Amino acid sequence: MSDFLDYAIVRTARRSVQIQVNADASISVRAPKWVSKDHIHRFIQSKSNWIIKKQSQIQQRLLHQSEASFELGYYYLYLGRYYQLHASKVPLSEPVAISDNMEISLESNLGLEKTLNQWYRKKALTYFEQETIRISRLHGLSFSEISLSQAKRRWGTCTAQKKIRLNWRLILAPESVIEYVICHELAHTRHFHHQRSFWKLVESMCPNWKSHQAWLSEFGHFLHGSGVVRPLEF
Ligand SMILES: [Zn+2]
Repeated sequence: MSDFLDYAIVRTARRSVQIQVNADASISVRAPKWVSKDHIHRFIQSKSNWIIKKQSQIQQRLLHQSEASFELGYYYLYLGRYYQLHASKVPLSEPVAISDNMEISLESNLGLEKTLNQWYRKKALTYFEQETIRISRLHGLSFSEISLSQAKRRWGTCTAQKKIRLNWRLILAPESVIEYVICHELAHTRHFHHQRSFWKLVESMCPNWKSHQAWLSEFGHFLHGSGVVRPLEF
């Protein structure tokens, strides 16, 4: 049980040793060139309590991230930001409202999970429609229809009839990532393939597309667990 001592050392120009516990619970250490391996090892051991605590938090989260759970006090993603779920003390015009927190009306007897999921989908459709119209106009492209999907793997599709479907869970992602997926699908209305001309068009519409694509491959699986974070881990 000492695998917390497995770490990779990166030599940098920094002045002190820095330990980082990564998203997969592995450890990286950044250290100045002049610090010996022995010193680094002793330093890591002196921080072992902190490292183990951090790692177990991350492992807990990795364990739970595929099962969405719905409870007041938990944090939920919306457009790339976390909001703590609160019961609203005042009547709301919609079942859920975003302010500093995510306020939910408990008047309906649908329950938290259904209320939140329905609200997410409604928000997703409105947001995706507005954005797809805006981006298509900006780049002189057209589409015939937009709808939501709940595919496990795909973020979007576009048919030869220019019907675009976007995964509703994208509403949890940052706006720039959603924009990339919309640009990608809109680019398919002109190039129905993934060849060079397609990526050239994507690049002209969304110059940072590579970082958004990387974001989706790194965090995409997390959105499928509805991006829930329990308060203790925060
Ligand atoms: Zn594509």
